[in-house]
Amino acid sequence: MDFTPPPIEDGFTAEKLFNQGFSYTYDDVIFLPHYIDFPAEAVNLSSRISRNVPLSVPFVASPMDTVSESAMAAAMASLGAIAVIHSNMSPSAQAAVIRSAKSRRVPILSHPVFLPPSSYIDSPDDFADSPYILVTESGDSKSKLLGYVSKESYTNQNDKSLKVRDYMAPSAPITVPWIHDLKEIDKVLEEKKTDFVGLLKDNEVVDVITKDEVERVKGYPKLAGPGSVSADGEWMVGAAIGTREQDKERLEHLVKAGVNVVILDSSQGNSSYQLEMIKYVKKVYPELDVVGGNVVTMYQAENLIQAGVDGLRVGMGSGSICTTQEVCAVGRGQATAVYKVSSIAYKSGVPVIADGGISNSGHIVKALSLGASTVMMGSFLAGSTEAPGTFEYQVRTGAAQVEGGIHGLVSYEKKYF
Ligand code: 5GP
Repeated sequence: MDFTPPPIEDGFTAEKLFNQGFSYTYDDVIFLPHYIDFPAEAVNLSSRISRNVPLSVPFVASPMDTVSESAMAAAMASLGAIAVIHSNMSPSAQAAVIRSAKSRRVPILSHPVFLPPSSYIDSPDDFADSPYILVTESGDSKSKLLGYVSKESYTNQNDKSLKVRDYMAPSAPITVPWIHDLKEIDKVLEEKKTDFVGLLKDNEVVDVITKDEVERVKGYPKLAGPGSVSADGEWMVGAAIGTREQDKERLEHLVKAGVNVVILDSSQGNSSYQLEMIKYVKKVYPELDVVGGNVVTMYQAENLIQAGVDGLRVGMGSGSICTTQEVCAVGRGQATAVYKVSSIAYKSGVPVIADGGISNSGHIVKALSLGASTVMMGSFLAGSTEAPGTFEYQVRTGAAQVEGGIHGLVSYEKKYF
């Protein structure tokens, strides 16, 4: 966007502010309002996470095990953003997460449960996080569908010693091809007056999509395009790796799974290990974008740019759970770090990811205005439906003991895993 400086000098330009020798966090700076001559619809938020990976909106989900796995990756891509799958798992498991996210057509992920008709349901836990158990001839996803049991009908069933076949709905659930998009699935749910459909791929039920989930996803912000889709028609997904020798093998798994961008995950990215890894990735997989970091100074950034990075991740001590500044006595205020690194990276056409410390929309505006191409968020997205883990409700027992029993305050605490 063209920027015309105001005719009357007032306040500080960014150049002046950030060259005074102070280090500023997002909350230390505030912008002066200027003049508006365009409608909100005219604002174009499209950006790039790295040189060759475009996004419709400038948002990236952090590679954290509380944030980015398949469901988050599918949801972010469907919204024109991207998630970076964390590496706290084996290389093959990380590759499987990428495959699962890339093969989606809808930003909904379930783990269907199957049983044969002769088995029993022991407890509601047998449903895992699915509201239905599908009954198939041999109890696996590939055999013939015979019926289903909803969690509700199991709960209402008084005689829990009955076999599944004695109280299942005795008709096979409606199935649709797995390539159906949200609109097509919604139409089938409506026309067939059913509460869920199974997604069928090569005669195997790979997912169960409920009406409730479709309604929830319909509430996502509307996007003009198809989301973050790569040339092969699949959703784009990023992944984190380290810089050790064994990460080369991990990378091979990820490339085979179709990863679209890799991020070298380190709190101090300007190291000989990272420079070597960047060179290795660019030599062995020249088509794959590699993001280096984290960095906070122009010197660090320049080193990684010279080594060939396609993107830079900026932030040291800015993350909500990050203790690098306290433990290692290094870091920088995030506003200054983003401005300084962006001002050198842009000369080489290298996009900057402002990583960490985003706790309100104003922080996003500040990061992008100071030169970042995207913002990376961890705690902002953790605990959402799309983040890994399930809700656990804990009853607090600090209630007031009064005559006749426990009365008074009993509150529930939400925990995320
Ligand atoms: P948040 O959005 O929660 O403020 O910050 C997310 C960022 O914090 C991540 O993208 C990552 O850079 C950083 N981070 C996440 N987990 C850890 C950790 O265990 N240690 C450190 N030092 N930083 C972390």
